[in-house]
Amino acid sequence: MDRRHLLAALSASALGLAACKPKGQATACAREGKAGKVFKWKMVTTWPKNAQGAGEGAERLAKNIEAMSGGRIQIKVFGAGEFVPALQVFDTVSAGTAQMGHGGAYYWAGKLPVSPFFSAVPYGLTAQEINAWLYHGGGLELWRELYAPFKVLPFPGGNTGVQMAGWFNKEINTIEDLKGLKMRIPGLGARVLERAGGSPQLTPGGEVFTSLSTGVIDAAEWIGPFNDLGFGLHKAAKFYYYPGWHEPGSCLEAIVNAEAYAELPPELQAVVEQACKAANLDMLAEFTAKNAAALKTLVEEHKVQLRPLPEAVLATLRGYAEDIIAENVADDPLGTRIRDSFRAFRAEMLGWSAISEQAFLRARAS
Ligand code: CA
Repeated sequence: MDRRHLLAALSASALGLAACKPKGQATACAREGKAGKVFKWKMVTTWPKNAQGAGEGAERLAKNIEAMSGGRIQIKVFGAGEFVPALQVFDTVSAGTAQMGHGGAYYWAGKLPVSPFFSAVPYGLTAQEINAWLYHGGGLELWRELYAPFKVLPFPGGNTGVQMAGWFNKEINTIEDLKGLKMRIPGLGARVLERAGGSPQLTPGGEVFTSLSTGVIDAAEWIGPFNDLGFGLHKAAKFYYYPGWHEPGSCLEAIVNAEAYAELPPELQAVVEQACKAANLDMLAEFTAKNAAALKTLVEEHKVQLRPLPEAVLATLRGYAEDIIAENVADDPLGTRIRDSFRAFRAEMLGWSAISEQAFLRARAS
C-alpha cells in the first residue's frame, strides 16, 4: 500500500471510530458491523518482559497499532513466561490462544527446519539485504507459504543488524578450541557449531546470564553490545568475539493468527502490516544507534577483552555453513524453493554489495 492509500485507510478508520463515540449511537455502531468493533488481542513474545531492543520494540509495535487504529485494536503484550514460555510463542499464535506474537523464526527450527532462512543464516544476508529479499525479492511470499498450514501470518517485525560472535571464557585461536564447547547459539549457527565439535544450547534469553555465570554453559551469544550489556554478560565471561558470522542481520518476526487477521476490516489489516514495517525499521535504527555506545562502555568501563575471530576459524565455519545449507535444510519441495531463492538472492547481493556497501565502508575506513 502506498502512502496515499495508507493515509486514506487511516482516515477512514478514524472516522469509523468517531462515528461510534457519541452517546446513543449504539445502533449506528451495530450497523457498521466490523468497522466499529474493538479487537482485544494478546501478543506473546519470546523476549523477557521489557528486554531492551526487541522486547521494548514489541511493546512499541503494540502501542503503534493501537494508536494507528484509533483504539480499535488493543494489544496486551506478555513477556516470555508471563503467558507462555518463550519457545511456545509460535504454537500459541497458531492455536489462536494469542492473536499475535513477536520473536524470531529460527526459534521454530525444531518444527520447521527451513525457518532460519527468515531470521538469520550463517554467512547469509545483512539487515539491508534480508529486507530486500523479503519485501522485494519473493522472500515474504515464501515465508507466508511456510507458515500457512499453521494458520500463522508472518511479518518482518524488527532487525538486530549484525550481531556479535559471543562471550567466551577462553580465547578462540583455532577451530579446535570450539570442540566440546557448550554454547548458547540458536538456528543454523547451532548446526555449524555442532559440526565444529561444539555442543549448542537453545537457552532462552532470560536464562543466558545465569547459565553462563554458573557454568551450565561455557559460552553464549545473545545479540550485540546494547543488549549484552543490559543482560550483564560481561560479568559472566571476559572475552567478547566478533563478527556475528551466524547472525549477520537477524530479522525478527511479528506473527498474527491468520483467522484473527482475517476478521479485521481491510483498513485495520493495513494498520497491522504498516506498523510491523515501521517496527522493522525502528528496531534496526535503535540497535545500530545504541550498539556503538554500549561497546565503548563494555571496553572502557568494564575492561572487556574484545577479539576478532581468526580468519582461519571464520573460513572453516563458512565451509561448514555452506555444507549445511546445501545438505539437508531443504528436505521437501517448499524447503528447497526457500533455500534456493535465498541462495540465488545472496549470490546477486555478493556482486552488488561488494561494489556498494562493502567498497564504501572500506573507503570510509581507510
Ligand atoms: Ca543472537
